[in-house]
Amino acid sequence: MTLAKAILSALFSLVVLSVQANVNSISEQLRELDELRLKNRTEFTDRLASLKASTNDQQISEHDKHKLSLLSAWDLVIKGDFNQALQLAEGIEQRADRQLAIRASSLIVNIHTLSFKYIDAFAGVEKLLSYAVSINDEHLYYQTIGQVILLYSKIERYEQIQQLISHGLKITRDTTLRCRLQALGLQSLYHSVPFNEYQQTFNEISELCEATTEAMFNLLIIRNHMFYLLEQQQAAAALAFYQQYYSQVEQINYPILTAGFNAAAAEALLQQGELAAASELAQRAEQSLPGDRNDPAVLSTYRVLTLLAQAERNFDNLLRYSEKRRDTELAIAREKASQQLAYQLASGEARLKEQRIQLLDKDNELLTLERNLYQQQAENRYLMLLLIGSLSLILGLLTYRGLTRSKRYRKMAEFDQLTGISNRYHFTEQAQREIAHCIRAQRPVALILFDLDHFKQINDRFGHAAGDWTLQQVVLSCRNFIRHSDIFGRIGGEEFVILLTDCTAEQAVMLADICRTALADIDTSGYQPKFKVTASFGISDSQQAGYDLSALLAAADAAMYQAKQQGRNQVYCPATADGARAC
Ligand code: GH3
Ligand code: MG
Ligand code: MG
Repeated sequence: MTLAKAILSALFSLVVLSVQANVNSISEQLRELDELRLKNRTEFTDRLASLKASTNDQQISEHDKHKLSLLSAWDLVIKGDFNQALQLAEGIEQRADRQLAIRASSLIVNIHTLSFKYIDAFAGVEKLLSYAVSINDEHLYYQTIGQVILLYSKIERYEQIQQLISHGLKITRDTTLRCRLQALGLQSLYHSVPFNEYQQTFNEISELCEATTEAMFNLLIIRNHMFYLLEQQQAAAALAFYQQYYSQVEQINYPILTAGFNAAAAEALLQQGELAAASELAQRAEQSLPGDRNDPAVLSTYRVLTLLAQAERNFDNLLRYSEKRRDTELAIAREKASQQLAYQLASGEARLKEQRIQLLDKDNELLTLERNLYQQQAENRYLMLLLIGSLSLILGLLTYRGLTRSKRYRKMAEFDQLTGISNRYHFTEQAQREIAHCIRAQRPVALILFDLDHFKQINDRFGHAAGDWTLQQVVLSCRNFIRHSDIFGRIGGEEFVILLTDCTAEQAVMLADICRTALADIDTSGYQPKFKVTASFGISDSQQAGYDLSALLAAADAAMYQAKQQGRNQVYCPATADGARAC
């Protein structure tokens, strides 16, 4: 009896032990797979498949089951099956423990970003931010905010990025994580502090990353640094980086790095007047161009090829590369417009009406075309995934550098005290600079001029303070829809102007109409009786009025005058031979 009992008990413990061993080995395998996914894509996919084949539901704990699903979702994204991946991730988000749920939310944002669904992506960002505040686990924090930073970079929320990073640095001493976090922040730093200050931080971070095994991060920040150096006309310094690191780049063999390094070096050689050498590197860059055409390496390659064609007086090439360059710039600008609008919508900063969503949809039509192209490129998608939350965010905005301006150091004198936007003087100065850019890049510009309707009556009926308040509300309402690259100025008492780079009259009309309806939404219930805020809008563009700012202003003013004449609260297009017309 006792013997039988002993045997039974021994058998029982054996079973328990073997189950535990099995459980442990599954957890261990999952942990290894989680690391492998960032290192070796093929091996990850193969090992995941064999783990799934050899595991059944009874053998595996609830946590591991969800983790396995999360890795499967990741695998599906790599394979391009976004729908299935999304379903899986949403299931995990609802059912798994907090840590896995947050990782699932992060993957969901990732999927939406990859499939250009920015409204959903930004909605996910809001959720991730609400988790981020209470995360103490350094790795989880990094995984969570990586997604947020990726999207915030795209919409130039540099201050928020820096805040997220400095919080991350407070909770981790791990050098690898510190390297990654700071690498993520470098781009936003470049855009918000003077170059010297940025450069000093770059040196520190590069040194830190070099001490870890994060070669990829280091090479990427160096690649971007080379572009920044070129902007500062420091060609020799950029070339020194090329010489020091190009062999590493070749080893890693990722298109965004190879093309980026070659394009930057080609541009440096061009700055030094070494045409033949520049041409060779530019061709090398073109051969290794990544499929994702929004990568700054693509723009940079086409820019340098265009400049070379110009210098060599090769008009066939000039035409070919100018077109490619313009297509790339347009794709970037359109994607950015979609992102900005999506952010407004998701963050509740503004209630977009159907009309405004149409604007987004219009952009999305173009994006769908790009998406089809994109979907064929599993290799790049994998790379995006691999780098998301890390590399790609450092890339995003480099391309907009010509259009963005550091805000911090603007003098008070440049801004209108009541509304905070540019005054007439500053508007003119900035507008002329942007127009010059557009002329060089052969991009269109458009201008919206608007004047509030019967504004004097608001002053007369409710007092000057109510008039001031109205002016502030007008600016707040319109500002929501204006890209960072556009210039918004107050050029008269109740007269405003928006210069839109890379924009046609047709797009400007849409924006003007968005602003017009936004004004009608201004809540004046603080005053009795309530009143309506309306304005009359005039549009002009470079195609019709040319690139001279005075001519653009005069044309828009004439159209605006027509809008007033025809009953106010409407948008008028540039005058044609038959006179101005409603649009
Ligand atoms: P219209 O539809 O023809 O444009 O009529 P309006 O009343 O808007 O135009 P008008 O040019 O007759 O009046 C503009 C008024 O705007 C007169 C001026 O006192 C007022 N104004 C100008 N600057 C400010 C300001 O900074 N604050 C306030 N409260 N009023 C201002
Ligand atoms: Mg007026
Ligand atoms: Mg006026």
